[in-house]
Amino acid sequence: MLKKREEADHVSPDELRRVNKIRRDFVANVSHELKTPATSLRLLAESLEETIDEDPVQARLFAAQLRAETERLSNLITDLLDLTRLESEEKVENPLPVDVRSVLMTVLARMRRVARKKNITLQWKRFGRATHYTVRGDETQLTSMFTNLVDNAVKYTPPGGRVEVTGGLEGSEIVIRVSDTGIGIPEGKLPRIFERFYRVDKARSKVTGGTGLGLSIVKHIAENHGGRVTVESTSGEGSTFTVYLPRG
Ligand code: ADP
Repeated sequence: MLKKREEADHVSPDELRRVNKIRRDFVANVSHELKTPATSLRLLAESLEETIDEDPVQARLFAAQLRAETERLSNLITDLLDLTRLESEEKVENPLPVDVRSVLMTVLARMRRVARKKNITLQWKRFGRATHYTVRGDETQLTSMFTNLVDNAVKYTPPGGRVEVTGGLEGSEIVIRVSDTGIGIPEGKLPRIFERFYRVDKARSKVTGGTGLGLSIVKHIAENHGGRVTVESTSGEGSTFTVYLPRG
């Protein structure tokens, strides 16, 4: 508490204004993002009421849409809570040794079914001789980070494509690459994709059920572990996200 007050004393008025503006923009963005699904829910509930007696088949379709939209809203709230917690942490609390390779194996096993359904090849490749990559951190957060990256790779790759996860050591860092042969990201949009709520294609993201928060969560988790994440992509050819983590 005392530390916080000391820090606050050193914040310049300009900095304070900037931080307040970021906060206001965030609240405005969140309200906007919540309003859209809330409106959809209201409209779907009204449609359901209107059709339930006369057209039960149509009513069932509205009910299914209502469920999907509720799930989207719930994902958005979960992501927002995760992001807020990660932002306030700055560093992983109570870090423990985590074997990154076993985290990756868990993520790949979970994603296999979704990939198969889309006819996407999901592959793991190790580079170098090391079999264990240990970092000091939070296993749940690391699982969530790689799940987000692999999930995006599968989501933004058309059927018949390939997603490859490679892991190994480069100097004192553990390096994990998630590459796909998907739609890619236009060069001009690359600098913004780690921003909260940023989506390259809003309409498409709505279809895939994205919240636009996944990559901000990835960035915060990497940074809270003392690491970083980078992206390379060519529109129409694919993307590679690389996570660098210090060895623990
Ligand atoms: P979303 O929930 O919309 O997927 P993310 O924060 O995870 O949000 O990603 C932000 C945006 O970056 C996405 O909307 C998409 O446009 C783009 N993106 C992320 N990963 C990929 C990928 N592997 N291939 C192509 N585009 C991607």
